[in-house]
Amino acid sequence: MDKNNKNRIAILGSTGSIGTQTLEIVREHPGFQVRALAAGRNVSLLEKQIREFRPVLAGVWEEKDAQDLRTRIADLDVRVVSGMDGMLEIAAQSDADMLVTAIVGMIGIRPTIAAIEAGKDIALANKETLVTAGHIIMPLAARYGVRIYPVDSEHSAIFQSLNGEDPRTIDKILLTASGGPFRGMKKEQLEHVTLADALKHPNWSMGHKITIDSASLVNKGLEVMEVKWLFGVELDDIQVVVQPQSVIHSMVQYNDGAVIAQLGTPDMKIPIQYALYRGQRRPLSGKRLDFAALKSLTFEEPDMETFEGLVLALEAARAGGSMPTVFNAANEEAVALFLAGRIGFTQIYGAIRDAMERHKTIRDPDISQILDVEKAVRSQVISAFGA
Ligand code: NDP
Repeated sequence: MDKNNKNRIAILGSTGSIGTQTLEIVREHPGFQVRALAAGRNVSLLEKQIREFRPVLAGVWEEKDAQDLRTRIADLDVRVVSGMDGMLEIAAQSDADMLVTAIVGMIGIRPTIAAIEAGKDIALANKETLVTAGHIIMPLAARYGVRIYPVDSEHSAIFQSLNGEDPRTIDKILLTASGGPFRGMKKEQLEHVTLADALKHPNWSMGHKITIDSASLVNKGLEVMEVKWLFGVELDDIQVVVQPQSVIHSMVQYNDGAVIAQLGTPDMKIPIQYALYRGQRRPLSGKRLDFAALKSLTFEEPDMETFEGLVLALEAARAGGSMPTVFNAANEEAVALFLAGRIGFTQIYGAIRDAMERHKTIRDPDISQILDVEKAVRSQVISAFGA
């Protein structure tokens, strides 16, 4: 595919849930060229991906893993880089024209900014970046004429429901949520859930961190903030609707009362592909919705008593400035501790609440302030749990 077709991509986080599904789409659509791949530690999967997709540049986090990878692929002409410098190079200096940000956590901020400054469109899965630095990233993208295409299924649904409409006619965004594996539980029951329980998402198969965020409803809170930045709407114009079957992926209500929704099977390849093709539809194999088998679609309000994750996220979003960074960093660190079996599920809420209570909001923080706040909050959470 030649340069003008804009089908050259780089992927940050190619070995994860979104990264591997992105590569499945590339496999189904040979017009795409994979120019660069970055992973964390999964060197053997990355090696396989390099052999199949033949990028010119590859990166891993640790230099020792990079050395291992260089030895493994010594027969190929692929340059291997490491660390944040490597990720920045992959984001900005490969000849890809789109960066897929499938990395987990706010570590994605600097590479996303570097890619935008290099004029590359973004297929954005890495929501933590927009949550913490949306006030910097969205104006920057506008300045560089770069488009940010949502990968998150709900945001893709909104994007699809907005297609051809005048954004000034939006009345509200109806952001759907499955409710997660603990929907229907009360606060006391949440105290006793285990890691294995929390990892059992009813509808979606995803990476561990977002699966825990879905169980705590922190994910829905992050998504509210993501909606605000991606679509430029006010927080009061975003309503979370629980739709337990995960068939309606989100909706937009317009000022004439009409509601446009996007429906589909819970298959992340649909939104990933829509982003890779910059909002154009292309054939995709996979299951189709079977309405006869489905029978009913139900709706509920989110339980704000039990699932503090959403409540705290809305507080952080309303406070603005550096508070979403505090919310996100405390959650990232607490989820890592929960995944390591060091704290209980509801202690995630405690860690976030505590970090937010101690923080004095910085208005309009720059990147170095955001990263400083992140660092301080992370060490505070770690020391609070004696980890
Ligand atoms: P996974 O945990 O499955 O994958 C994360 C990826 O990031 C892996 O490739 C991992 O590499 C890589 N990675 C982690 N740390 C580093 C690092 N320091 N340097 C370079 N690469 C690193 O996550 P998901 O795919 O589930 O999620 C990715 C993002 O997409 C998140 O922000 C999530 O919220 C968002 N998202 C995910 C959805 C899903 O269905 N999974 C849906 C909507 C949004 P390795 O494994 O090699 O260590």
